[in-house]
Amino acid sequence: MARVDLHLHSTYSDGTRSPEWVVRQAAANGAELIALTDHDTLAGVADAQAEGRRRGLEVVAGVEIGVNDPLLGELHVLGFFSNDAPLEDLERQLTVYRTERESRARRTVARLTDLGVELEYDTVVRLADGASIGRPHIARAMVAAGHVESVQEAFDRYLRNDGPAYVPRTLLSLAASIEMIHHAGGFSSLAHPTRYERSSEAVEAFADAGGQGIEIYYRNDGPEEIANGARQAQQLGLIPTVGSDFHGLHPDELRPATVAMPAHAAREITDILRSLST
Ligand code: AMP
Ligand code: MN
Ligand code: MN
Ligand code: MN
Repeated sequence: MARVDLHLHSTYSDGTRSPEWVVRQAAANGAELIALTDHDTLAGVADAQAEGRRRGLEVVAGVEIGVNDPLLGELHVLGFFSNDAPLEDLERQLTVYRTERESRARRTVARLTDLGVELEYDTVVRLADGASIGRPHIARAMVAAGHVESVQEAFDRYLRNDGPAYVPRTLLSLAASIEMIHHAGGFSSLAHPTRYERSSEAVEAFADAGGQGIEIYYRNDGPEEIANGARQAQQLGLIPTVGSDFHGLHPDELRPATVAMPAHAAREITDILRSLST
């Protein structure tokens, strides 16, 4: 059982559970240290940390930032921060990307309407309820309106990256996202490297840009993927991180703090995160 989970989503982005709920689940699963990493926002961190204090579980401030590389496409970078990091400044810097998410959601709804899937943008906004808005909110609105049976069907038929209703986002560059994280005294890690089409090139580009960690222990990745990742991490001097990427969107999803990570690796990243300062 993992003691660490550094990739968790809540209702502050496209997760379905509150930060408090996520923290309680992680605590129930024996976690010692977790990070809340909502997309493009740190707004849920305070709630998560308050619940963490009540449960005796250490909660690190985190974020997942989408970036675009001209050759490799969309990559995701995780940032982890100390408690005295200037989170308000960071949150302000991320505002532009959240605003962009709103206009993109509006354009996605228009595209869906053209495809005969009638949806009101306001329904999506209500459902997102102030969160950093994303495609899963649109998918849930499509389920609620009876257009599809499940969030997954909405992605498979319309919203996936090469789907008919996909609208790209304007994203930061890889270097800019790493710079933003490090400037705030944070630690950067490349999220889910196995999910990228050109995975090993993405890892190399991340290391070249000054990135520090790599999410080798990810969700359901198998031993072979983990071994490959570990080899690359060692070659490039990247520190392994662990994450379930919990969203609470599917009943069979991995629960918070259930991804296994070897004890020595858990100790290494825990020590690093505890020694972060601004
Ligand atoms: P966005 O940030 O709006 O581009 O939406 C991306 C989010 O949608 C990811 O963080 C996942 O939660 C979810 N997602 C992306 N692709 C898929 C897919 N093919 N199937 C199911 N969920 C997906
Ligand atoms: Mn997501
Ligand atoms: Mn991601
Ligand atoms: Mn994620």
